[in-house]
Amino acid sequence: MLALAGCLLTFAAPGPARAQESQTDTPPRPHESRSGTPARTEPRAGRVALTFDDGPDPVWTPVILDVLDTYDIKATFFVNGMRVAEYPEVAREVLRRGHSLQNHGYGHHLMTSLGETDVRREIVRSAETIARQTGVTPACFRPPYGKFDDRTAAIAAEAGEEIVLWTVDSADYFYQSAAEEIQQTLRDLHEGDVILMHDRFGESLRQALPVIIEAVRAAGLDFDTLCDESRARRQTGLHERWGRFHRFVE
Ligand SMILES: [Zn+2]
Repeated sequence: MLALAGCLLTFAAPGPARAQESQTDTPPRPHESRSGTPARTEPRAGRVALTFDDGPDPVWTPVILDVLDTYDIKATFFVNGMRVAEYPEVAREVLRRGHSLQNHGYGHHLMTSLGETDVRREIVRSAETIARQTGVTPACFRPPYGKFDDRTAAIAAEAGEEIVLWTVDSADYFYQSAAEEIQQTLRDLHEGDVILMHDRFGESLRQALPVIIEAVRAAGLDFDTLCDESRARRQTGLHERWGRFHRFVE
């Protein structure tokens, strides 16, 4: 534990984003949200961001929410529209507890393997489902597997969403072991990092998360959400955006 915290302190200097698994060398186009405020896609100074992909999960998302509540931490959940349609009450619970809910595509497909029409459908249909079920319009899109190309970036931007990847991979999908996830996450963690985790591996995360959280705080850092800076947009922009989506897919 102390060694892990020491490791964190050693690497406390902010560093450039270390996006992994991207197949493009071209960064996504800058985008301004409807309110004119760019979605904040990096943690503020002195913080890191916990992100959870592939939910909502009826069993494990509530477990993760309980751990986060215990430490009074807000995180960012990149959800699949198909699962939001299946478990809308879980998605709403994520929001009710104050977290950021963002887009991870409708059915978790590899964007670079799809044609343009299907990429557009994956992004827009998911955003529409999230909006319809929760009243929240996502400001960010995380492409499944972190893989995207210029076309995907352009379509996401046209849909009003910034692409957000991660800088630290907990590899929970690979290890499914708390000890390994702790080691993998903390071994090279910097201020400003975005940590990738997955709701469906809640069994190991339930044990790993408290250790990771306490180590981050012991290093003098705290936690931040992403992409949810303009909450007013949730109340006022829904129907207008919805119309825009429909025009977009026509
Ligand atoms: Zn995913």
